[in-house]
Amino acid sequence: MNDIILCKLGEIVLKGLNRKSFEAKLLANLRRRLEPIGSFKVYCLQSTVYIEAQEDNADVDAAFEAARKVFGIIKLVRAAACPKDKDAIAELAIRYLKDDMLRAKSFKVESKRSDKSFPMTSIELSQYVGGALQDAYPHTVVDVHEPELTVQLEVRDLAAYVHASPVPGAGGMPVGSNGVAVTLLSGGIDSPVSTYMIARRGVRLIPIHFFSFPYTSEAAKEKVLELAQLLTAYCGRMTVEVVPFTHIQEEIRDKCPEEYFTLIMRRFMMRIAERIAVANGAKAIVTGENLGQVASQTMEAMASTQAVTHLPVLQPLVGMDKAEIVTLARQIGTFDTSILPYEDCCTVFTPRHPRTKPRVSEVEAVEKALDVKALVDEALNGTERVRLEE
Ligand code: ATP
Ligand code: MG
Repeated sequence: MNDIILCKLGEIVLKGLNRKSFEAKLLANLRRRLEPIGSFKVYCLQSTVYIEAQEDNADVDAAFEAARKVFGIIKLVRAAACPKDKDAIAELAIRYLKDDMLRAKSFKVESKRSDKSFPMTSIELSQYVGGALQDAYPHTVVDVHEPELTVQLEVRDLAAYVHASPVPGAGGMPVGSNGVAVTLLSGGIDSPVSTYMIARRGVRLIPIHFFSFPYTSEAAKEKVLELAQLLTAYCGRMTVEVVPFTHIQEEIRDKCPEEYFTLIMRRFMMRIAERIAVANGAKAIVTGENLGQVASQTMEAMASTQAVTHLPVLQPLVGMDKAEIVTLARQIGTFDTSILPYEDCCTVFTPRHPRTKPRVSEVEAVEKALDVKALVDEALNGTERVRLEE
């Protein structure tokens, strides 16, 4: 029988009544994620998701790596299946775990039996297979307290399974199980991480990028799309909304005092994000903001930015250190792309002396010089939608 992947469900098992729909979301997300890799059967039995290759040359390694990024799974392991017979199980354990057994100085066997008609108890099966492994690999000893290797046997409905210890999965909740939000995606280090963090809470995301051509180049836009593409490994397929921002920035530059440029620009971002959110049933705006990192990230500046929207603004990085954000960016694989040189619209018209502690009323007064509604409508009319498959 083929190599298979067993996945243990995360927080969704706590969800009682909603559990079935959470499971369904997870299965659908997994199936979509595995589709480009090959033909796999994905099903859930007894709080375990099974991923079974349907063809002999299926790339199970690639499927395992893909499943490690799917939210809703807390641990997963590659396993081999065999008929529910003690000798078949022992023979499989000896063959399948050869490398692990040769490496380990000590081991133990743990068995679980959800098929209660199996003629041995869990302890008897563990002892039987433990003895067979000991005979096959005489250099190792059985240590039930602190073994280097734990061999796990599961006698389930359809077959018996043999595997070593599982590795951690992506955790969180299946994307789509907790609604939809828009996420402001720049080309920097932070916003891919904030997008990842909210997706991990089960939220489906619509990335929005504000693009200031020709002040920022086509390459800067491609970089953001590349970041979004990388994020699809976690977030699933996404449609990026690329909003033309040039005219708005030029109007601000021409009509407002320089010290307010950034503040007013960010208020436009929020208004546009809210409009896109409402049009798509999204219930929150995610940003990569972090308290105190740059001039616009004071509490006063945040108040002035958020005053233009009724939607909750989720800032999952707000209390993190830069070093922690960088560690996460490396872990999820966006860091190397984020540090490619690029210009962001925020850096194009950066004031020399930004106003860091504005009153909201003061920003509103300055903004009166602009036709806010017309500018927002114009930007939305020119928005390009880029569909990214996972
Ligand atoms: P990042 O690393 O995500 O660029 P940052 O530390 O550079 O963040 P800012 O440039 O002040 O901080 O931006 C704060 C947040 O505003 C970003 O994390 C992102 O969510 C949003 N943002 C900034 N520029 C853009 C843009 N051009 N398009 C979309 N969102 C943006
Ligand atoms: Mg930035």
